[in-house]
Amino acid sequence: MTTHPSQPFDWRSAVVDPAPLAPEGFRSLVTPTSRGSTTLFERAADLRDDWDAEKSPYTYGLHGTPTVLELGARIARIEQGRHCFITPGGQAAIALIYLAFCGAGDHALLPETAYGPNQGLAGGLMQRLGVEVETYDPMIGAGIAALIRPHTRLVWCESPGSATMEIQDVPAIAAAAHRAGAVVALDNTYAAGVLFDAFAHGVDVTMQALTKYIGGHSDLLLGSVTCRDEAHYRALGEARNFLGMAASPDDCSLALRGLQTLAVRLDQLERSTLEVAQWLAARPEVQTVLHPALPSCPGHEIWRRDFTGSASVFSIVLGPQPGRAQIEAFVDRLRLFKIGYSWGGVTSLVAPYFKLRRTVRPYGDRLVRLNVGLEPAPLLIADLEQALSALA
Ligand SMILES: *Cc1c(COP(=O)(O)O)cnc(C)c1O
Repeated sequence: MTTHPSQPFDWRSAVVDPAPLAPEGFRSLVTPTSRGSTTLFERAADLRDDWDAEKSPYTYGLHGTPTVLELGARIARIEQGRHCFITPGGQAAIALIYLAFCGAGDHALLPETAYGPNQGLAGGLMQRLGVEVETYDPMIGAGIAALIRPHTRLVWCESPGSATMEIQDVPAIAAAAHRAGAVVALDNTYAAGVLFDAFAHGVDVTMQALTKYIGGHSDLLLGSVTCRDEAHYRALGEARNFLGMAASPDDCSLALRGLQTLAVRLDQLERSTLEVAQWLAARPEVQTVLHPALPSCPGHEIWRRDFTGSASVFSIVLGPQPGRAQIEAFVDRLRLFKIGYSWGGVTSLVAPYFKLRRTVRPYGDRLVRLNVGLEPAPLLIADLEQALSALA
């Protein structure tokens, strides 16, 4: 505080004095929430603004405060990557990957089962910027080689696919992409970065919506992009800096707390979800259960080969010919399953998917996605049982 003997005390100056007055030496189990745009330098000659936190951390808040860099470092460690950039959301992470690796005249490949807003970005902004994004059958495997062109820069995978849950042969796709020098990116949100070891299966760059399992409580929006290779690190870091993609230290603090309970939540969610999915598979109103751990899911054998567990989101295809109104009545009758997007929190959710664009395995208007939360499985099953009567 400004208490120089020659200067009288001035409260107006005191209220803006940044020097701490509390005793030093506090230690706890919690990562402090460090907010800050300006970071301070000792000398004028030290002033710099550098996105590369590995080289010179803490030059400007945009590049991350200790809370943001702590979250990034912990995600990089559990994914066994080199570096993880935290983004304002999962969709921002997707955009960062496109903008880091693709420019006008480039070609990219995206599974037709990719997260809807990724497809929207591909057909919208990326097309406007001169990047051609072509969709492919997620079950294509090594056959992707036939779609790769001399200017293919980026090959996306998302496994399982959004809503229709196809498990991809990521190692086969990555091998073909690497032969052509393309970067392989994976949306690893379903696996929370831990149920599928992306880098060991040939992926170059992973992203997650931390909004889902890492946050785990439906109270934040964050994303992550993790890489191993130096060239990928530089491309992503520069693009993120150009775009000014800052992440909120407060949200990162919540994500750090969520991360601590990831293992117990995933274990419990896996068990409950399997119980619910297996019960649904035996019901006459349900034609197919699209859950990676059930043989009825396309790519189930690959899931057995490559994944170490399953998560809480899956879909059912209702049969034989329910109308849209009947499906809406079924959804409206559910009490424990709330109607809404997103998943990975503690509450069970339901969303019908009408008019899904799928050329290879169309399910018509009969697909309903479920997210199992932490409610007891027998209660969730009872809820589904009473709601299924709407289809009778
Ligand atoms: C939710 C989700 C995203 C986007 O995450 P936001 O944080 O909501 O922007 C991306 N990919 C998948 C697979 C998702 O489920």
